[in-house]
Amino acid sequence: MQNCNSKLKIKIDLKKAVDFHGHLGPYLILGMLMGELALKKLKAKKHFGIEAIVRGASEKPKSCLIDGIQISAGCTYGKGNIKKMNGRQIQVLFCNLRNNAKMKISFKKDLIRRLDGIKGHVDSEKFARKLVGCNPLELFQILNYNF
Ligand SMILES: [Zn+2]
Repeated sequence: MQNCNSKLKIKIDLKKAVDFHGHLGPYLILGMLMGELALKKLKAKKHFGIEAIVRGASEKPKSCLIDGIQISAGCTYGKGNIKKMNGRQIQVLFCNLRNNAKMKISFKKDLIRRLDGIKGHVDSEKFARKLVGCNPLELFQILNYNF
């Protein structure tokens, strides 16, 4: 995690994210990375071609993840293609609605440790900015079901 340089480049529109969500935080960025990763890996169409089921992100700040997923993957409450479920740990199941390909994404231990160690707003924002350039494959654990 020290070096987040990556081959898998994911572009994040930070201004758009903060405009929508209202502040900059790590879970927002993680949600954006997750959504973009899922679109890429599942070759799914943004907005109408993908569905997300989010577990373990019921309370703030973890629930900020949901806004990141909405912005990036276009899974929104208005369209009904995102659902929030209870769970002990954050885990998001993405489904390509065209071919039913699925992918489950969770956080790696190192990332959870880093998130748990955040102290205050300054630290939180600093870490969020650091995550913007990260390779999602270094942050997330991926379980593929079918391709
Ligand atoms: Zn937030």
